[in-house]
Amino acid sequence: MTIRDIFDSMDYGPAPESSAESLAWIAAHNGKFGHWIDGAFTKPGEGFDTANPATAKVLATVTQGTEADLDKAVSAARKAQPAWAKLPAHQRAKYLYALARLVQKNSRLFAVLESMDNGKPIRESRDIDIPLVARHFYYHAGLAQLLPSEQPDMAPLGVCGAIIPWNFPLLMLAWKVAPALAAGNTIILKPAEFTPLTALLFAELSREAGLPKGVLNIVTGDGDTGAALVAHSQVDKIAFTGSTAVGRKIREVTAGTGKALTLELGGKSPYIVFDDADIDSAIEGLVDAIWFNQGQVCCAGSRLLVQEGIAERFHGKLKRRMDGLRVGDPLDKCIDVGAIIDPSQLAIITAMVDANREGETYRAATPVPVGCFYPPTLITGLSAASTLMQEEIFGPVLVSTTFRTPVEAVELANNTRYGLAATVWTENINLALDVAPKLKAGVVWVNGTNMFDAAAGFGGVRESGFGREGGWEGLLAYLKPIAKRQPLTQAKASPTPANPTTEGLDRTAKLFIGGKQARPDGGYSKPIYSPKGKLLGQIGVGNRKDIRNAVEAAHAAKGWAKATAHARAQILYYIAENLSARAAEFARRLKDLTENPGEQEVEASIQRMFTYAAWADKFDGAVKSVPIRGVAIAMNEPNGVMGLLCPDEVPLLGLISTIAPAIAMGNTVIVVPSETAPLAATDFIQVLETSDLPAGVVNLVTGSHSDLAKPLASHMDVDAVWSFSSTPLSAVIEREAASNLKRTWVNHAFARDWYGPDGEGRAFLRAATEIKTIWVPYGE
Ligand code: NDP
Repeated sequence: MTIRDIFDSMDYGPAPESSAESLAWIAAHNGKFGHWIDGAFTKPGEGFDTANPATAKVLATVTQGTEADLDKAVSAARKAQPAWAKLPAHQRAKYLYALARLVQKNSRLFAVLESMDNGKPIRESRDIDIPLVARHFYYHAGLAQLLPSEQPDMAPLGVCGAIIPWNFPLLMLAWKVAPALAAGNTIILKPAEFTPLTALLFAELSREAGLPKGVLNIVTGDGDTGAALVAHSQVDKIAFTGSTAVGRKIREVTAGTGKALTLELGGKSPYIVFDDADIDSAIEGLVDAIWFNQGQVCCAGSRLLVQEGIAERFHGKLKRRMDGLRVGDPLDKCIDVGAIIDPSQLAIITAMVDANREGETYRAATPVPVGCFYPPTLITGLSAASTLMQEEIFGPVLVSTTFRTPVEAVELANNTRYGLAATVWTENINLALDVAPKLKAGVVWVNGTNMFDAAAGFGGVRESGFGREGGWEGLLAYLKPIAKRQPLTQAKASPTPANPTTEGLDRTAKLFIGGKQARPDGGYSKPIYSPKGKLLGQIGVGNRKDIRNAVEAAHAAKGWAKATAHARAQILYYIAENLSARAAEFARRLKDLTENPGEQEVEASIQRMFTYAAWADKFDGAVKSVPIRGVAIAMNEPNGVMGLLCPDEVPLLGLISTIAPAIAMGNTVIVVPSETAPLAATDFIQVLETSDLPAGVVNLVTGSHSDLAKPLASHMDVDAVWSFSSTPLSAVIEREAASNLKRTWVNHAFARDWYGPDGEGRAFLRAATEIKTIWVPYGE
């Protein structure tokens, strides 16, 4: 080819990156790897190949992790953990800093190895993945340094197990390893079967950083190895990124074990383009949203929603841009779209697209090499319910539909079981900032996409999982309160006496649903006696149907979340005031129910209501210091509809301590009060009725905690469940919560001092909210 030819065609020449160093590293290990346990490689054992998806050539053989391997890794991690946690914060910070430096020093080796093992373009691994990895370790070196002064009451969890997918192998390692280590935990990480190599390289280099033996362990293997890690009795936390199906299984398996859990799962993220958007920028953003990493991105902007008036022009321009994308050798620096991870994933993508009979499919008119490659594809004209609109394709396939109004855009965007990310394009900042909070997503990007940073929380809502990675919020998921917890004994209702005494009129308290007192659907009631055998009253026995009605009422009241925090605070103060006016009556009731003088509990309850009235407009979000010209706003949003199983031992204080933080943050609630002493709660209905609280914000269903926990925890329209019940229900609640992956906060049969600092404060507010990160770049 002559220079003249090149000028005539203006075509790209080849710009290959050398694979020599990566291959030399593999060859230095004879192409065979064991696990990294206790600071050294184990002897390679039975295993499987890992191949370069672009060439189908085997790169290396790695070892299949067995239960015995995991036992070894866990005991190394356990042994190393106390000393690691006891290191002065500055020492741990220095190790994390050293890891960041090592990543930077070896950045090209990591980038090339990642592209070879995963198939992603070198431009992405070199310019995005690896710099983000280094940034994550630097940022967490800082968190480690500041931890004792910023979180003095928190301690590490112990030994963490991390399971990561193949789409961002080293970045996902960083997202798990950096916070775990910064917090003083040790870790066992299982990389994905398809992409184990950069994790092994990282482990080997960690020796150069002087990382103490056993702090970081890598056990390679398939899903069975992952499952065995999840089931291991000596692991205190599981941090998982991967598919919703596996995440759900992990939720079920860990239920009731007391293992902490964070799940970062799939998505079908909307990419909304309004008619006043800068179209060319929106198209460039879209290239990044769906063709970055071949669309194999959990937060890929895979669902384009474009305003009707510009749809034709937008699709036309998009198709032209798609035709210009270059698909091919991931190690070529001029390639936009690399190889699909594995022939099995290619087969899934192909089958999903081929099965579709709706709309119009456009495949980019660009050469696609033979092998594990798939052309950039656009499917327009799909109905909102079509499979491709709802299911994650996890490939370079964009689906598109149109909308007319912002209201419709939000409706379509939220019409999914997922809630990971969303993108909004408009030149109208008012519109963008009006729409962003309405989107059900953990992350919203305005006029940009796929912005990530260690300082900004990333994670989902709904079936995209729970927990955040990055920022202080991410670190907290690797910590627990320092205070030792005491076991909780199951409370017993006062027994039915042989000759019950009764005074005055029989009063049967009703349920409270949608602002009205309601008879229980089952038509049963139950007597409540004092410890001395006096009949104090009857309560309605709520059932599954009552829970369903209460959930419906709570949904209908969701406008509460839109009330200003000031307005919510005023109502909480009003409730406290009304409770205060009837303090003597409540104290008498508590004395009857518990035989203890009730004054102290009533006073503590009034104070607690005041505390959360105060918090309502003070649990502020944050502006994160991310490295862009712009801001990343971390907003505390309510979970939505919450189920609350109250403590038995403090019938009024427990009720207020759970309801107040939840509603102060804008949630609506279904409350199951103390099972053994429910009458303080049913009396409280009258306080609620006179306090201007909108109907449906608080719904009260009395009855058996064991009977009501399951319908509440399995309900698909409940977003979070707390249980402080003295009935052992943690396992049931966590298991049932897997249905829609709702958040749970349960006591695992440990007591809480409801009168002390453990009974109120930020832990409750954090559990009542999810952080949404809204990225707003600025500048012309
Ligand atoms: P998986 O969820 O199956 O895998 C994620 C990780 O979990 C891998 O390390 C995997 O091991 C491991 N694993 C598999 N089964 C279990 C188990 N029962 N218990 C514990 N760990 C387990 O995702 P895949 O890689 O199989 O991809 C399947 C689909 O998931 C994709 O098509 C995509 O839709 C979605 N996905 C979503 C991701 C996200 O970031 N949200 C990331 C990756 C995939 P192994 O690698 O050996 O299977």
